[in-house]
Amino acid sequence: MLGQMMHRPLLISSLLTHAERHHGEQEVVSRRVEGDTHRYTYRDMAARARQMADALAARGLGFGDRVATLAWNGYRHMELYYAVSGSGAVLHTINPRLHPDQVAWIANHAEDQILFFDLTFLPIIEQIARQALTVRAFVAMTDRENMPNAPHIPKLLCYEDLIAEGSDAFDWPEFDENTAAALCYTSGTTGNPKGVLYSHRSSILHSYAAALPDAMNCSACDTILPVVPMFHVNAWGLPYVACMVGAKLVFPGPWLDGKSLHELLEAERVTLSAGVPTVWQGLLAHVEATGSRFSSMSRTVIGGSACAPAMIKAFQDRYGVSVLHAWGMTEMSPLGTVCALKPVHKELHDTARLALQAKQGRVVFGIDMKIVDEDGQALPHDGKSSGELMVRGPWITSGYFKGEGGDVLVDGWFPTGDISTIDADGFMQITDRNKDVIKSGGEWIGSIELENIAMSHPDIELAACVAARHPKWDERPLLIVVKKTGAELTEAELLDHFRGKVARWWTPDGVIFVDKIPLGATGKVQKNKLREAFGNHLISHKAG
Ligand code: AMP
Repeated sequence: MLGQMMHRPLLISSLLTHAERHHGEQEVVSRRVEGDTHRYTYRDMAARARQMADALAARGLGFGDRVATLAWNGYRHMELYYAVSGSGAVLHTINPRLHPDQVAWIANHAEDQILFFDLTFLPIIEQIARQALTVRAFVAMTDRENMPNAPHIPKLLCYEDLIAEGSDAFDWPEFDENTAAALCYTSGTTGNPKGVLYSHRSSILHSYAAALPDAMNCSACDTILPVVPMFHVNAWGLPYVACMVGAKLVFPGPWLDGKSLHELLEAERVTLSAGVPTVWQGLLAHVEATGSRFSSMSRTVIGGSACAPAMIKAFQDRYGVSVLHAWGMTEMSPLGTVCALKPVHKELHDTARLALQAKQGRVVFGIDMKIVDEDGQALPHDGKSSGELMVRGPWITSGYFKGEGGDVLVDGWFPTGDISTIDADGFMQITDRNKDVIKSGGEWIGSIELENIAMSHPDIELAACVAARHPKWDERPLLIVVKKTGAELTEAELLDHFRGKVARWWTPDGVIFVDKIPLGATGKVQKNKLREAFGNHLISHKAG
């Protein structure tokens, strides 16, 4: 017998309609690329998102078409989140920190029709304008007054002119909740970046879970400042969650340094923020240097890379800000676990509590996880056995866009590439990673690509690139190389070989010349051995 409840589709547009009706007066504050601060309300935002949807429809944007953004966190980006997805098209947020060739590759792979960009990223557009073959229009996210003079960019439009073409009488269409809503490419895999295609249903279910008290604990009484970029897994879902609960939203634009963030947190009375450890390090350094405090922020979500106990301690003990250590992936929308304590943990003494909070935490309802050994056998949740972490759930991808990478699931589970333990209370802790990528300041660097470049040097016989720990960036690439017999190559010469081939911040931080690189039985480089030997090299030798 089936239940008799209504089948109303879970659609992203309904989040904005809800925010407009029930929290219409709530503010959305944005620091703009133009240099000033913009403020308006959910009511204004909803009207402008409908206007933009209408304008895009009039220009022929169809159901399922991809619309790209290269943009900071701000109200115009937020309008596009709703205008594009709400119309049944797909919002494709591109990471502007990638090399322009990668941006062009991704735009072509996604077959983006329109590309919206913040003025900061004009140089990228200038480089890719002719390579991005499917883009019909490039839209500068600004007004007429601030439009760049860029005659060599074909089909350049102005955001405010475009939005003025539409009417806010536009009605959001209703369609199947499984329709694609957003697309985000991840470089956290081997080979080319791969697209993760979120649906309306998955995004709404993820928002419900993310807002829960033991997750990000969001309410209408909150003022939320997502430092995590809207081009990183939809800013961890906060643009949707904020509308769902009616929270005030504050966007930092491009100003992510400690001083700017602190000023904004204080000026707007922010209660909750979210970001990667590197950003929080800058913020903590600023408040420490200036003797400032946090007068409104009560908690901060830290994830994307492991949050060190020292950072948790500084926020909590010195500044009274609770840290919510969280783990997830682009492939998981991203939320998987949050380190929210249980009643039995409240009495823990400081050291034990910190050790627990350094774990990535327990699953939010909706996610199922297990750890397996090399044969795929499930391992016990004893806090000691470590194996590959596998996950499944309604906001986890079942494969990559256009089938790239083939079948990724193993018996219905998504292999995360993270190695972890799970303790008897369900707290997961990442201990290692078996994917060939390096995470620097929350951004991926492909080690294989760096190895290929090193190997293209005529003096190199074998090269391996590993993540070395770094006090500021968490991890940085370190090259371990074997020179050809008789070659005279220096570190500087080899690093110079990377110039122009990758984004500058991808260039390895150092080179170690060795006589031999350890190889396994199948001839594969044993990176774990290299990590063991050289993982601390940058901390002990170089880091400044
Ligand atoms: P991304 O898809 O860019 O969000 O990266 C996801 C990956 O980042 C995960 O598979 C982990 O390797 C890493 N990661 C995310 N959060 C954490 C965390 N709290 N601690 C350690 N690693 C993390």
